[in-house]
Amino acid sequence: MAPPSPTPVRLHRGMLFSPAAPDRLVAVEDGCLGVSAGGRVAAAGEYAEIAAHHPQAPVTDWRPAAILPGLVDLHSHIPQYVAMAMDGYDLLPWLERFIYPTEAAFADPRHARETSRRFFAAALACGTTTSLLYATVHAEGTRMAFRAAEEAGVRAAIGKVMMDRNAPAELLEETSASLTEADALCAEWNGAAEGRLRYAFTPRFAITCSAGLMRGVAGLAADHGALIQTHLAENPDELRTVAGLFPEAPHYTGVYADAGLLGPSTVMAHCLYLSDGEWDLLGESGTRVAHCAGSNFFLRSGVFDMGQAKRRGIAVGLGTDVGAGPSLSLFDEMESACFASRARYALERAAASRLGAMRGEFGRLPGGADLLASVLSRLELDDSVALVDPVQAFYLATLGGAQALGMADEIGSLEPGKWADFVVVRPPVIDAASPEEGRTPREVLSQIIYRTEPSAILATFVAGAERHRRTA
Ligand SMILES: [Zn+2]
Repeated sequence: MAPPSPTPVRLHRGMLFSPAAPDRLVAVEDGCLGVSAGGRVAAAGEYAEIAAHHPQAPVTDWRPAAILPGLVDLHSHIPQYVAMAMDGYDLLPWLERFIYPTEAAFADPRHARETSRRFFAAALACGTTTSLLYATVHAEGTRMAFRAAEEAGVRAAIGKVMMDRNAPAELLEETSASLTEADALCAEWNGAAEGRLRYAFTPRFAITCSAGLMRGVAGLAADHGALIQTHLAENPDELRTVAGLFPEAPHYTGVYADAGLLGPSTVMAHCLYLSDGEWDLLGESGTRVAHCAGSNFFLRSGVFDMGQAKRRGIAVGLGTDVGAGPSLSLFDEMESACFASRARYALERAAASRLGAMRGEFGRLPGGADLLASVLSRLELDDSVALVDPVQAFYLATLGGAQALGMADEIGSLEPGKWADFVVVRPPVIDAASPEEGRTPREVLSQIIYRTEPSAILATFVAGAERHRRTA
């Protein structure tokens, strides 16, 4: 539990936005965030009320800018930052062509440190204060990523990528060495920098990891109480390869279940091609999901089915998945999540329409009418379940991501007692000739989500300390 709220030593004035529930927003037009000397939220609410209680506290007046909780990126790759937006490939050839070479460069610790520095500076400039990240297979390169995160003052969970098969020779590890190095890095960094840094065991995905490596990861993560992150069901070719490598497993999720990798400390990225039974496994085990809509569009991987996660109460956050994702900004990712839900809705309606047109053909088969009814009933045609609107996207990028990391008591919303991680955003001016007055807070949030460029992010704070300020 967070400690009781202390006295504010500084007030930040602006329109406040904070998530209250997956579909509920708290907005205060003339709002105020009071920050304590220890970097916690001491007060959040109406400016007039808070200022009257704390007349001595200095005020930073950000109006007409808005104050939002720091954004949470639930899935991204530090070394791939330099290879964003290389279009024209599916997952597996794209890894070979662009990604493995950028990761091999992390063998040079100095390169790893410089790339990581630029990555965190860019993330802060996008308003991201907490990230769950992949480094590379290199222990020293991963250590440099942690150092850069510590210097940048961000919150991050980072892991050394683990691959003991089906990887290029320069990135391939021996199983026991991979486990030993990850174990040492976890001991060194899990809980470092006053708890801002955590270790995440990072077996890349089932194609590049032996069953023995994955079982070893499950044991180490349990021993340390550390996070686990990996990829699941991103691409149909990947599914076929996994089925060939693990013929005894009932399905892809079963491979991870057999290794002991499912559970509330595990974040699975993507989850595009899962059966109902696999979704049940994720739900029952409490496994968390990183939804990476921009990446899924970019690599033509598929479209996430939010309804499956929502119906099971699975904790979902958003991941930029750079470099497959073309942007490090969670504002772009929120927009993509809204669009992905509409794409899913459109796909399912199109499928229903085509199946409906085949009603006569089904009717001629024995039991065909019942079969058609059963197939149609499984399509997601109720937009209230699966559509993601700006309020929901905002939740996913803040409190949803915090919940997925087990940090919902500490970050993710602007509530007394939580860390004062926040971002100051200038709402977009859609048309300078049209009056901005009269927009409801919900409308302002919608425009922020669909129209925020990095230049609109004025400042980013972690634990009350300014870590980014727009210069130009
Ligand atoms: Zn990824």
